[in-house]
Amino acid sequence: MSNGVVANGASVGQTHTTSQRYLSTRGEDSGLSFEEVVLKGLATDGGLYIPEAIPSADNWESWKDLPFTDLAFNIISLFISPSEIPSEDLKDIINRSYATFRAEEVTPLVNLQGDIHLLELFHGPTFAFKDVALQFLGNLFEYFLVRKNKGRTGRDRYHLTVVGATSGDTGSAAIYGLRGKKDVSVFMLHPKGRVSPVQEQQMTTVLDANVHNLAVTGNFDNCQDIVKALFADPEINSTHKLGAVNSINWARILAQTVYYFHAYFSLLRQQPSTFKLGDKVRFAVPSGNFGDILAGYFAFRMGLPVDKLVIATNENDILDRFFKTGRYEKKPTYGPNAEGGLEQDGVKAHEDGVKETLSPAMDILVSSNFERLLWFLAYQFASSAGMDDEWNKKQAGQEVSSWLSDLKNKGGFGPVYKDVLEAARKNFESERVSDQETLDTIKSIYKEVGYVLDPHSAVGVEAARRTQKRALAEEGAAKHIISLSTAHPAKFAGAVELALEEEPGFNFQEKVLPPEFIGLDKKEKRVSDVANDWKAVREVVRQQVEEEFKVFGY
Ligand SMILES: *Cc1c(COP(=O)(O)O)cnc(C)c1O
Repeated sequence: MSNGVVANGASVGQTHTTSQRYLSTRGEDSGLSFEEVVLKGLATDGGLYIPEAIPSADNWESWKDLPFTDLAFNIISLFISPSEIPSEDLKDIINRSYATFRAEEVTPLVNLQGDIHLLELFHGPTFAFKDVALQFLGNLFEYFLVRKNKGRTGRDRYHLTVVGATSGDTGSAAIYGLRGKKDVSVFMLHPKGRVSPVQEQQMTTVLDANVHNLAVTGNFDNCQDIVKALFADPEINSTHKLGAVNSINWARILAQTVYYFHAYFSLLRQQPSTFKLGDKVRFAVPSGNFGDILAGYFAFRMGLPVDKLVIATNENDILDRFFKTGRYEKKPTYGPNAEGGLEQDGVKAHEDGVKETLSPAMDILVSSNFERLLWFLAYQFASSAGMDDEWNKKQAGQEVSSWLSDLKNKGGFGPVYKDVLEAARKNFESERVSDQETLDTIKSIYKEVGYVLDPHSAVGVEAARRTQKRALAEEGAAKHIISLSTAHPAKFAGAVELALEEEPGFNFQEKVLPPEFIGLDKKEKRVSDVANDWKAVREVVRQQVEEEFKVFGY
């Protein structure tokens, strides 16, 4: 199979056997292999890794009837040299990653209403979309570590200690991705008593020896600070190899590109009279750290016919403000959150400005993965000067570094050049959805079609509805739109019950609760209480890794 590698639209005629290399968005780190970027996560210069060239999926149309795992292999293998992971091994990693999903199609598409379709991404082990990426990432980690450790039987083994903080949503997906994996331990810190009961149970009932739940006396910010302190600590770094599984890991984005293609092909099968191969489709994506929707951008750049990617934010709306103003700022100077703004919705705001909403997995101040899109925008802008590719890349890295430095030191940057903003708007639209609108959407969709949305998915559906309305007014006809459903409603029972409690005949237990959640509260738990003190946590990490080694006999 030959696939031209496209560097921003210009085919340079390489083939798929050419080694795929990665560079940092801040320009100071390049030439890395896939394995290096997966194990490192964050680049040495503080940037995020992106492929040096986005491969084009030249024969994507011939993939239309493939099952999910075969499609995943075709897409993912374009980004990994077979010399790094032989095809048979990659196939095996992919097959094992998606065998844990309850739905045969892995990510099924359902028609919600008219031309709005829902891509259900919550059929993995923890009932949230992050499973799609983390099941794959866990197996990749294990594959690389086992390979590094060939011939080593004792303490000389390369052992990864993954440390992360969670407010509840991502912790369980990371734990399920890494449970039972060889040569990797996972420590997940959560604020004691401050995550929802279901989320707490999902995490602490995993009893594998390599899974360590730490309940911190404090809040989520304290947990994050402890993790940061550990990563910055020379002492633990001299004895343990710390790893992260947060959404900046390139492998997570890569795994997520697959379901954009898969959804497109599902739509072809489901709407044969109104949707043909080559027709453009829209996607609406409930967004926080911009990882999910960025995968859609990569799918588009690889050749999938995407009309627009609609960013759906909650009241933490930095992305929506960027698309409206060209300014990327932590503290809003535009919109309902701006000083003097009209909105009084009772939503609790943290000291740093993050609001606590009904869709907590999207409660962010800045979107870490947006940096990757910024690089491509800066690169495109630099390319218009007509210099060589090396110069363009250098320019892009410098531009991104300067933007991100302003974000850190001045709280924001922009407005960006008009051409940059226009280029962004060519592929993206944005919508901001309030908590009240989220509840209204859950309610109205339930009333109209009987489907129960989780609050994150509801943010996406509301954005999709607005997009369709606007398209109808402006273009006279709306295209099909696929709204990504990122969590099962049972994970966010509070918001769902709040929205539907007054609906006649609605019964959460019967309508929503999956059998896997029943009796979870009675299962055995394993969790250690720790003080809000990073040195105490460091001691617990050391001890528990040590005990784990004993279990494995080294
Ligand atoms: C993480 C998450 C999101 C946001 O995805 P990003 O990649 O951070 O934009 C949306 N919904 C749910 C349920 C999530 O867990």
